[in-house]
Order: sequence, then structure tokens, then C-alpha cells
Amino acid sequence: MSDDAAAQSDGRYHRQQLIPWIGTGGQRSIGQAHVVVVGCGALGCAAADILARSGVGRLTLIDRDVVELSNVQRQTLFTERDARERRPKAEAARARIGEINSTIECRAWVDHLCAENALDYLGGATLLIDGLDNLRTRFLLNDVAVQQGVPYIYGGAVGTEGRVMPVLPGEACLRCIFPEPFAGAPQPTCDTAGVLMSTVLAVAARQAMLALQWISGNSQQVSRTLWSFDAASGRTAMASIGHARDAQCACCGRRTFEFLGASCEEQATVLCGRNAVQIVPAKGAAATIRCDPQLLQATLAPHGNFEVHGSRLVGTMREVTAVGGGRIDLTIFSDGRAIVGGTTDPIFARTLYDRFIGGC
Ligand SMILES: [Zn+2]
Repeated sequence: MSDDAAAQSDGRYHRQQLIPWIGTGGQRSIGQAHVVVVGCGALGCAAADILARSGVGRLTLIDRDVVELSNVQRQTLFTERDARERRPKAEAARARIGEINSTIECRAWVDHLCAENALDYLGGATLLIDGLDNLRTRFLLNDVAVQQGVPYIYGGAVGTEGRVMPVLPGEACLRCIFPEPFAGAPQPTCDTAGVLMSTVLAVAARQAMLALQWISGNSQQVSRTLWSFDAASGRTAMASIGHARDAQCACCGRRTFEFLGASCEEQATVLCGRNAVQIVPAKGAAATIRCDPQLLQATLAPHGNFEVHGSRLVGTMREVTAVGGGRIDLTIFSDGRAIVGGTTDPIFARTLYDRFIGGC
């Protein structure tokens, strides 16, 4: 029996094959696709769950973090046990997906995705799914997608608001729409503004829909829009991006790929002789970063005691501690540079920076 016949006879995908634009041909294409889900937080869990159940032949999951109890509220592939054991998210997600669909290949990488390893992890993918919690890595993904000609489905969810936008080969990219991502006020993150599971599921469902349209061979069906959604009111808005490609865009127009050109080491450095890590924003992108200490103080106020000193914001985190319970001190400069005191773990420091300073 051929694979197709086997798939039809067991009926596993029967309901979705009844959708006219999927059928057996679309299902075969889905089974041949390799989707990389970058970030196994709330969005990544939900999107990976949908894609695994839909029969995507190869799924690769990448995440640098471990499961905490506060993740279980919205990260659908994790349990209390995963949190107790502080299992790496990518591995816990892969284990769960193996139980959901044993017929697909699922790989997990526990690592911090950065410029120097991005092409190793993302090269050769059919499509990239954004399950990220920070802007910097999103724009790295955008660089990879444009340079490699791979579709990338951007998604974001904070509070009750979500956004989805496809970055398709030869069409508008994320920087056409957000040319200076780090200008202006600090962007809220899940850690500063909270997030509801309903928001996340709506966003991930939309991302997975666009992904399935593309990988099933229905690329023209993919809606060329920036979709925005408020889960509380149910309001949605769709802004066309069909003609939004900007010839002067730093990424797809001038093809400078600033985020892909950055050095991983420069971004997080253990400070010699000190129990501290320095975070330096990616090269190139630094030119557009402006951290307003007053605005950032307001954002961080619920999470610690912070004071503005000249062009710096300094303070101590209340809810986050180092391994062993030691206190974490932050010093943030107006150019986005930060010193994370109380740790010598660059990945911990980098994660803390992305979670709380986020889009700054
Ligand atoms: Zn662009």
C-alpha cells in the first residue's frame, strides 16, 4: 500500500482532507513539509500542537528556556510535572508531540537562537513559525526568511491583543512595516503586561492556518494582511500588506541583514571579575535603540524597585532571583545596553533582558 493509500485508509486526516483546497494532494504536501517553530512558549506550543495533529511531516522545535509553573497557565504542551522537573521546553514539547502524533518526525534543540547559529537551525526549512517572546529574535528570523527566501509567519500576543503577519518570499517583510522596531516607548511583553490563553490560542490558530495554506500548496490563499485582534472585545482588523514592500527597507530592500550580521558573543558577555553579565544590543540595530529611563521605570515598577540616575535606570528585581535565590540587579543605559548583576549565566541574563526590557 502506498503512503497515500495508508493515510486515507486509516482516516487520520479525513476531516481536514474534506476541506476542498487540502484534499489528498494537499495532505501529501503537508506530510512532506519541514516547519521550524522558534520558541516553545505559549504561541509555539499551540502552533506546534496544531501542526503536529495536522500531519506536518517534520517539525523542529527550538527554545532556550525551562518550564516554570507560571507557564502552565497558557503553554498547552506542558504539565505541572514538567515545571517541577524544570524540563527544557523544547524537550518537554517534543515528548508531548510524540504522544500526539507518532507518525511524524519531531526534533528539539535546547539553545539560544542567535545570528551565528540561525542558519544552522533554520536553513532548509519549508516555513518558519514565530513562537518568540522578544523583538530582537523576531527581526533575526525576518532577516533569515528574506535572505533565504523562506516564508515566516510572524505572531505576537500580549495582554488580550494579538497580531499575525506572513512574510512571504519577494513580498513585504516585517521591517517594511516596522522599520525602526526599537524606537519609541518600550514595547510591552507578556512579563510586563500579562497574557491570556484565549489571546494566544487565537493568534497561534491564525499562524497555523496561514502555514497550512502555504505548505499544502495554496500560497495564493494566504492573506497578505497584518491581522490584529483583541480577545476581550472580539474586534479584528486586517491591514493589507500586498503593496507594502519598501524598496528602501533595510532588510528586503537594501538587503543589509543587520540582525543576521550581529555577533552572539557581543550580545551577552560575562563581565570579568564580576558576578554580572553585560547585554549589548545587536550591531546595526543599536543605532535605532533609544531606551527612555523614565518610561522603562514605569514598565518595570511592578517587578522591582527602580530609580532613574541620569541616563540610567538602576534597580533590583523583586520576583526574579538567580539560581540559589540571590538577588538580581539591573542597570539599563539609554542606548539599550544593560548590566545584569547577580549571575554569570549569559543565557539567563539574555532571557531576563528579553522578558522585561523586551522591545526597548
Ligand atoms: Zn522589508
